[in-house]
Formats: sequence, structure tokens, C-alpha cells
Amino acid sequence: MLSVLKKKKLWFVFLAVFIAACSAIQSLNIFPVEQDVALGSEFALQLQNSSKDYPVYNNPAVKNYITQKIFQPILQSPDVLYKNVFKYNLEIIKNDTILNAFAVPGGPVYVYTGLLKYLDSEAALAGVLGHEIAHAERRHATNRMTKQMGIQMLTQLVLGQNPSQTAMIVSNLFTGMTLLANSRADEDESDQVSMKYLQATKYYPGAVKFFFEKMRDDGKVEKGGQGISVFLSTHPDPIARIASVDQRLKAAGIEVKSYKATGAGIFKDEYKKNILSQLK
Ligand SMILES: [Zn+2]
Repeated sequence: MLSVLKKKKLWFVFLAVFIAACSAIQSLNIFPVEQDVALGSEFALQLQNSSKDYPVYNNPAVKNYITQKIFQPILQSPDVLYKNVFKYNLEIIKNDTILNAFAVPGGPVYVYTGLLKYLDSEAALAGVLGHEIAHAERRHATNRMTKQMGIQMLTQLVLGQNPSQTAMIVSNLFTGMTLLANSRADEDESDQVSMKYLQATKYYPGAVKFFFEKMRDDGKVEKGGQGISVFLSTHPDPIARIASVDQRLKAAGIEVKSYKATGAGIFKDEYKKNILSQLK
């Protein structure tokens, strides 16, 4: 018969192997896909109830235009696998000082008016939306929760605490924006996937970097400031990411264009007419 200590050691080994597997296989995720949808709905509800911090921007013309002309066409990409499972939805948050967008698990995507006013082409916005959809599709939040749970459980066993506390740990992970703090690897993957999605649309596939390029040229990357620090905390290392996108474009035989480009696939006039001029 195994002693308590030996049993504990076996668990330790099991969990260590489990965590290693989680790290090695990106797709390993102990949560069913439906859990992403449930999490996202809960999050969306919490945001609705925090309308002071996340006031909804009430402008149906702009919201409908972006949803129908940009957001939905990206979702039609054959690489978007959960379009019939997730509850994809676009919401605009009224805050002109924040240049950011974020996705919660299972479909809801949020974009700040600050970002909409800063961008200057439909392609640039499509790049950002593709990136956010990728976070949901690749299930980055619940992948991370899988890893965190493994580590928490392991820590508890080592410390000899009661494993039943795991339920509490899980419920703690379900709340708070920390759930949305993506890793560098997640950011990189979302840039890569955004490019894949955009290849199925009329937009320039490398447009995910346009936002970073404009920020770099405007000297905003180093500067800080409220909106920028929020952006940098959720989108680390923009300069390195521009280089990665350029590298992928070259490898795929696609012409490298900057945010200053006009012509096919960019749609600056359309952005000005249908989005910028409609923003109050
Ligand atoms: Zn991101």
C-alpha cells in the first residue's frame, strides 16, 4: 500500500507532467469550448454593470457599419472555426483617451472610441479586429487558466494544503481583467492568425501592424501616458511585432506595405467617410 507521502509524490509527478504537456501542446485546454462562451457572457455582463468604467458608445450607424462591413467578413474566413459556437459580437466603448481593443473568451470583442479615432483605414481596424478574434478562437484565456490551475494545484500539494480549495481558485480566476492579460506568445500568435483571416477578405493581410507603425511614427510607443500605458500593458513589444509581421509577409510572398500605403486593400476614404466623420 502506498503511504500518504508516496501518493503525494505520485500526484506531484502527474501534475508536473501535465503542466509540461500544457506548455508543450498549445491546444491542451481542460475547459470545454462551451466554458469559453459562458465565461464571455459573464464578462460581458460584468462590463455592462460597470458602465461607469466601460460606457457603451451609442452610435448605431458606426457600430452597424463596422459589424457588417468589417467584423462579419473577417468571421467568414474559413480559418475561423468557432463562428457557429461562439457568440461573436462587437461593442464600442466610449473613451477617447484609450487606444485599445480587447476580446473576452467566446466571442465578444470591444473597441474604444480612442482607437477608432486614431486609426486611419479600414484595413488597420480589420487587422486589430482579426487579432482580437484570434484571441477568442485560439482560446488564449482558458489555455492560460489551464496552466495556472495546474500550477496552483501543484503548489497546494507541495504546501500540503487541501486540494478542495481548487474550486475557490478557479472562481477567483473567473473574475478580474487579469484573465485578459495575454502573454507575448499569445500576442504573436494572434498577429499571425489575423494575417491568415485577412487573406480571406478584401483587406491587406499585414494590416495588424498598421496601428503599431502609426504609434511608432507618432512617438507614442516610448512616451507612455494613460491610453498608451493601457495599450502597452496588453500589447507588449510593438516594434518587434512589426518586424515579425514583415517577416511573415515576405515568407508568404506578400508585398510589405506600411500604414502610409493607399490603394488596393487599404480603404482610407471609406474609413474617413463611414467611421471617422461619424464619430462625435
Ligand atoms: Zn492581443
